[in-house]
Amino acid sequence: MDSLVRNYLDQYGVSDATRRFLAKPQKMFIDGAWVDSANGATFDIFEPSTGGLVTRAPSGTADDLDRAVRAARRQFDGGEWRRLKPLERERLLHRLADLIETHGDELAEIEAIDMGKSVTFAREIDIQGTVDTFRYFAGWPSKLHGRTVEPSIPGNYLAYTRKEPLGVVAAIVPWNFPLQTMAWKVAAALAAGCTVIVKPAELTSLSTLRFAELVQEAGFPDGVVNIVTGKGSVIGAAMSAHPGINKVTFTGSTPVGQEVGRTAVGNLKHVTLELGGKSPVLVLDDADLASAARAVANGVFFNSGQVCDAGTRVYVQRSVHDAFLDELIAVTRTLKLAPGLDRDCYIGPMVSAQQKKVVAGYIEAGRREGAKLVHGGATPEGPGHFIEPAIFAHCTPDMSIVREEIFGPVLVTSPFDTLEEAVSLANDTPFGLAAAIYSNDLARVHTLIPQLHAGSVYVNAHSTIDPSMPFGGFKDSGFGKDLGPEQLDYLMETKAVWITLP
Ligand code: NAP
Ligand code: MG
Repeated sequence: MDSLVRNYLDQYGVSDATRRFLAKPQKMFIDGAWVDSANGATFDIFEPSTGGLVTRAPSGTADDLDRAVRAARRQFDGGEWRRLKPLERERLLHRLADLIETHGDELAEIEAIDMGKSVTFAREIDIQGTVDTFRYFAGWPSKLHGRTVEPSIPGNYLAYTRKEPLGVVAAIVPWNFPLQTMAWKVAAALAAGCTVIVKPAELTSLSTLRFAELVQEAGFPDGVVNIVTGKGSVIGAAMSAHPGINKVTFTGSTPVGQEVGRTAVGNLKHVTLELGGKSPVLVLDDADLASAARAVANGVFFNSGQVCDAGTRVYVQRSVHDAFLDELIAVTRTLKLAPGLDRDCYIGPMVSAQQKKVVAGYIEAGRREGAKLVHGGATPEGPGHFIEPAIFAHCTPDMSIVREEIFGPVLVTSPFDTLEEAVSLANDTPFGLAAAIYSNDLARVHTLIPQLHAGSVYVNAHSTIDPSMPFGGFKDSGFGKDLGPEQLDYLMETKAVWITLP
């Protein structure tokens, strides 16, 4: 750990538990053992509010992945895990949820230090969401079953279906909600009876490594959950190609998702792809402008705008456009830009210097293409990858800031006149992850919902997420669902059984 990070942790009084975790050498978790990479390689782990070095973790190889696959296969193909009764699986998942809750403050600090996000939101959203996800799926193993049917063909048969787990599931996870996104994939896979191998993003591997310690403490058999850290181009790519893996569940960018999907389907794996977004927000003329402005600002600036379903394209009915924009700017001024460990931080730094460069580049492109920057957009001096939230007005559909996913605190607005025009603007994108409507006119709201091409539609809210509701995109935002009972369908096979009766 360098002095930048050490001083930062001292300044904000980070817990002893977190310090102990950060001080020890990080290892991968394969077949219940803590191991280095097969070739001894490591990668550096940075803290985004200071830009300082925190620690190093193993940079895994295809051989490391292969060891993890063999362990996961052994457990799946008749190991101890496969022989557990459903209620025993539930008990392990509940125990894990309890342990995550007990260590919630520590996990929130680790997430804030590795990713740069607000420690307060990390505790309230990321960690609580992780606990809730494990609790929700813990209830499922005893409730997974097929059906018995009465066939009409000649003859006499007992016909029924069996739900069986898919097998070894590989999860490739991005850096914006590291622990929570991992939990979405792992909790459901374990509930279904699968075994898992996780590849966290290099930018944010630490919380997943701490999680693996809790998996061990909860008493899961060795090899049921494996964590292989390192490069996506090495491990992620090897996961898509490995014949011992039955499914790849990927959350990340659309181009990488397409590559993962091509390889995985090429060798007939199951695939879930949760990809990028450029979600539209429609503010109708009857909306409560003050509360809509708070929700819209939260819907795009939360997590410093590094949110896949962020409502980044805001279309406002013309008669309320200027008044709404004034409210939105006023709310945005109140959002505190600060280091992640500051308890009052609302907007933390971008996750990396590279991400800051990309976002700053889009703000520059917006100006160049003729959009009007009506708030923020500056990049403060000093350490850390900070960018002030930016609001652009008078944007046109051809601008790059309107068309492309930025993944930073940048919002574009323009007015519309009719609802037909609003729908056509909203759907004018290759993405289809989410959409939001602000209005109290039920008739208009219900007319709009079926016309929006998006996997989630939020009304008078944004990014409301609960483990009981499915999440996943349409169009270039991918396919398959995480969360809800729907996710289990993507993790189980249905076997049709025919028994001839005398
Ligand atoms: P990314 O570059 O696509 O990376 C996502 C993950 O894929 C990382 O673990 C990465 O590993 C790995 N990866 C990189 N190259 C790979 C390859 N060739 N084969 C297999 N895996 C590879 O995305 P990101 O920049 O981390 O995350 C931001 C993107 O994720 C945004 O587009 C956002 O919209 C999307 N996202 C979507 C959702 C959703 O639910 N729809 C949720 C969150 C984020 P390394 O980087 O460690 O090498
Ligand atoms: Mg980091």
